[in-house]
Amino acid sequence: MNSKYSLPNSKNNITKFSMKMKPTPIIFGNKNGPPSPKKMKMNSNENMNSSNYNGNFSPRPKLSIQDQRRKLPVFDKRNKLLELIKRHKTLIILGETGSGKTTQIPQYIHSARLQENGKIAVTQPRRVAAISIALRVAQEFGQGMQIGDVVGYSVRFEDVTSTKTKIKFLTDGMLLREAMFDKLLMEYTVVILDEAHERTIHTDVLFGIVKRAQKIREDKNLAPLKILIMSATMDVDHFSKYFNNCQAVYLEGRTYPVNVYHTIKPHDDYQTSCVATFFKIHKEAPANHDVLIFLTGQEEIEACAHQIRLLAKDPDVHGPAVKVCTLYAAQPSSQQLNVFHPAPPNTRKVVISTNIAETSVTISGIKYVIDSGMVKVRSFHPSTGLELLKTQKISQEQAWQRMGRAGRESEGYCYRIYTRSQFELMRKVSIPEIQRANLCTVALQLLSLGIQAMQFDFMDKPPRDATMAAFEQLTLLGAVETITSTTLTPLGKKMAKFPLDPRFSKILLSAHDFGCLEEALTVVSLLSGESILINPTSKREQAQNVRQKFCSAYGDHITLLNIFREFTNVGQTNKRNWCHEHFINMRNILHARDIRNQLEEICKKCDLTLKSCGSQMDQLRKCLVTGLFMNTAELLRDRLYTTLDKKQAVQIHPSSSLHGQQPALILFTEVVQTSKCYLRGITTIEAEWLNEIAPEYLKSHNIRLNKSS
Ligand code: ADP
Ligand code: MG
Repeated sequence: MNSKYSLPNSKNNITKFSMKMKPTPIIFGNKNGPPSPKKMKMNSNENMNSSNYNGNFSPRPKLSIQDQRRKLPVFDKRNKLLELIKRHKTLIILGETGSGKTTQIPQYIHSARLQENGKIAVTQPRRVAAISIALRVAQEFGQGMQIGDVVGYSVRFEDVTSTKTKIKFLTDGMLLREAMFDKLLMEYTVVILDEAHERTIHTDVLFGIVKRAQKIREDKNLAPLKILIMSATMDVDHFSKYFNNCQAVYLEGRTYPVNVYHTIKPHDDYQTSCVATFFKIHKEAPANHDVLIFLTGQEEIEACAHQIRLLAKDPDVHGPAVKVCTLYAAQPSSQQLNVFHPAPPNTRKVVISTNIAETSVTISGIKYVIDSGMVKVRSFHPSTGLELLKTQKISQEQAWQRMGRAGRESEGYCYRIYTRSQFELMRKVSIPEIQRANLCTVALQLLSLGIQAMQFDFMDKPPRDATMAAFEQLTLLGAVETITSTTLTPLGKKMAKFPLDPRFSKILLSAHDFGCLEEALTVVSLLSGESILINPTSKREQAQNVRQKFCSAYGDHITLLNIFREFTNVGQTNKRNWCHEHFINMRNILHARDIRNQLEEICKKCDLTLKSCGSQMDQLRKCLVTGLFMNTAELLRDRLYTTLDKKQAVQIHPSSSLHGQQPALILFTEVVQTSKCYLRGITTIEAEWLNEIAPEYLKSHNIRLNKSS
């Protein structure tokens, strides 16, 4: 399921700032002692005024791209590294973020032809990183090298590679999908699992898949598979043990001391505090000292960007011009790449980012880091049966990574919007996603590889109740016969063909029977891409009013469908204007159309007939129930809902088109938790449909529907 927005939090609301409002002072102190000496190391070989950077504290390199490559810490280790890579079939490479691991090592391997006749795969946990790094590496190759030639990338619904491609950057999810079609990953002779410390669910599964492929290829005398595990920080012993005690190599990075400050008092409104801290720095620091702010998600980041842009123009606020850049997953890649461009002269760049900038991408010129101490994570709770998006405190490990971003090129400063004691209370390391995620998709993928998740060689086994919940879901969806099955049903096999959450593949596969595949494809595609709705903070009401005509009494999914249908009807030359007028993100809606085309191809391969239900929305609503009957809630009283199976109290999110109304029974595609649990992406449904479509579910969960529903 897709979720891109954080709940607008009234405390963090933009309206608190006006042009005339001055940032409130935040008091910092570091009198509780310096941060751990280990993290404060200064590499004595490095001179802060080193000649590559104009003798300046905040370097804006004017070097040629090849000179920039030669200045990276990894460059001196090139030969040593290549020798180790040649010698070992599995190798762990550790190195500070920004030392050149991701961009350089694949190129070194390629120029030494260590991949022989195969390809090099480099995985990234995030789309943004896979795309931006591939573009960077293609650029470093130089000489008119086009992306998709020797260097390419592949992310879900976007494959920019060709037969010439030798270095392929892909999201870990994409490599996992490729493994479903070729268990031994024969296309590759080198697989680099990058950002391994992030421990995304896909990377964790890939650990097991590549380890297995390597062994089988060895046993069968096939082309050997080399595995490189790269990371900024990690528990080497744990990783090495899992990979048969393989060797690890440390790359000394260049790091400079970072002065860390904690707030003296706790600050609940961390967003406002980040803005205030920025202006405190802005008033005093030279213009070429750039700032990186860590916040949690799109809405928060955009609101903060808006505040800074406004305040920076205020004649009473002193300081140079400000260039504000934002970085979050749901953003068009072109905008994301903007963060890498240096600011014009006499202008300060401020990058406001999610945890993407923690380790995945490195931005030059950052001298100051402001760390809100918060991150948004998705987690599954077997006890409530809900997978939700929640803003929570980061781990100490993340705090150190964030701090490190300030000390890449010279001495830096890190302002933490939390107290020293709050820091001490943070958990030491983050919990791997596999231990907190909904395992339904993974269990289905593994089964399609002929592996029962319970028997899989995980580095850290997921909790048993989460695995059981996943198999229960797969059983209810009809992908397996029973929760102990080791094979997929014919329906399950078809479900595994789609790069989607099994609940969404089920919807497409049932749409054939309800005669609404056209509509189901549209809805699923719109839910699979980034949001098509633009809600600018300053024009939110205007946006809602102009889109009012698309609103359906059945809820958000049909509303989205109406928007897409209208977009399709608008003439080619008018599409841009139409999108602008209706606050629709043109790029995202076009992307959704691409996704739709790709899903349509898969449907055709599954022999599904493309039919439209026209205005018979009941067909589509019933069809949605076939996949989402487990995501249902009924009205209890006065706007308060409760989920059908685990009786979790929930409410309709203010951004839903059904907000303010009280339909008796609803299905939902997204859960957001702030102080309360909110649902969005909602469609109203009828009780008898549940009886008709999911009787097993009602029975096994003892669900008796309210009379009113
Ligand atoms: P690592 O993987 O060790 O964290 P990278 O190879 O990602 O390091 O980055 C090395 C350096 O390359 C960065 O410090 C940055 O200066 C430069 N770089 C990486 N990506 C880009 C990009 N898209 N645009 C400009 N410079 C980049
Ligand atoms: Mg990297």
